[in-house]
Amino acid sequence: MFDHPSYDAHEGVHMFHDAASGLRAIIAVHSTARGPAAGGCRMWNYDSGEAMLKDALRLSQGMSYKNAMADIPLGGGKSVIWGNARTDKSPELFRAFGRAVHSLQGAYTTAEDVGVSVADMEIVREETPYVAGLSKGEAASGDPSPVTAKGIYLGLRETAKRAFGTDDLTGKTVAVQGVGHVGGYVCDHLAEAGATLVITDIDQTALNAVAERTGANIVSPDAIYDVDADIFSPCALGAVVNEQTLERFKVKAIAGGANNQLIVPEMGELLRRKGILYAPDYVINGGGIINVAAEISGNYSRDWVEAKLARLVETLGEVLDEALSHDTPTNEVADRIARERIAAAT
Ligand code: NAD
Repeated sequence: MFDHPSYDAHEGVHMFHDAASGLRAIIAVHSTARGPAAGGCRMWNYDSGEAMLKDALRLSQGMSYKNAMADIPLGGGKSVIWGNARTDKSPELFRAFGRAVHSLQGAYTTAEDVGVSVADMEIVREETPYVAGLSKGEAASGDPSPVTAKGIYLGLRETAKRAFGTDDLTGKTVAVQGVGHVGGYVCDHLAEAGATLVITDIDQTALNAVAERTGANIVSPDAIYDVDADIFSPCALGAVVNEQTLERFKVKAIAGGANNQLIVPEMGELLRRKGILYAPDYVINGGGIINVAAEISGNYSRDWVEAKLARLVETLGEVLDEALSHDTPTNEVADRIARERIAAAT
């Protein structure tokens, strides 16, 4: 464990097995320096226990960084459940997971992530109060996507200001990959701001709906990397900035909501050399966790969420300015500031 390449002085890595329900889960608490750890629960059919552990270690570290950059009083943690989200779910499984979360006595609060729904979290809530992203209850904040999308839109303008000298998006073309929960709202904001949209998705219904209301042009999923656009906004998958796509991008900026956009951190430097300004993913997409933090506080306030979101957009601007003035990759600047914030609280 301590020799694992993705181990980053995590405070605790907890493994759970429940024979009755078949639950196999890991809860990784990276840091509680800034507050109780928070981060979603992912259900995924991993190839191996090793792959599962690696995901838990990396995702929980990422949450520490994201929460530090959003300046919310939360540390970083993440949980993973090994299984097929379509076929292996049961109420007993999520109850067992809820008991696992509860055994950490509040050191970690969970929420939805890939493969896990609000309904699953309602079951977890039957076993523990340390769960957010609920639709019912006094502080319930519901779907965080609209807040995430607003942050991405404002962050994209902040990025445009540096890449083009203006945040006026009139006449600018934005290529949006993925028009799901986040990407759909991002498109609405961009269309309203006068941007020309080129969109792609593997879900034809979602594509048609967004194209109809925004006037976007549709391209095939693979063609999105070749679009003659000003900005690329990845809002679907991770690892979309890689050796292959790097050669194809014609854009001057990348600003989107997907997690883990760079296949490896070194891509940040390659983007810089290519003259593409990259808005670090975990900074620009922090709106959702701000919304969740408001729920965890037990006293949800829309004003607090808006104020934190505005500050996050300023922080993104500071990251971009520092990177540009020092000829440094933006992701390295963001990582350094996040680590400093965590160290300062330790
Ligand atoms: P979602 O599942 O609602 O949307 C993702 C969309 O991408 C879907 O419409 C899907 O069909 C599409 N897609 C999948 N594979 C594709 C491909 N190969 N090419 C084009 N489109 C493809 O998810 P979401 O909640 O909108 O999240 C999108 C991304 O943003 C994820 O990476 C997620 O981790 C990240 N994120 C989401 C939030 C949030 O508040 N929901 C917060 C932070 C980060």
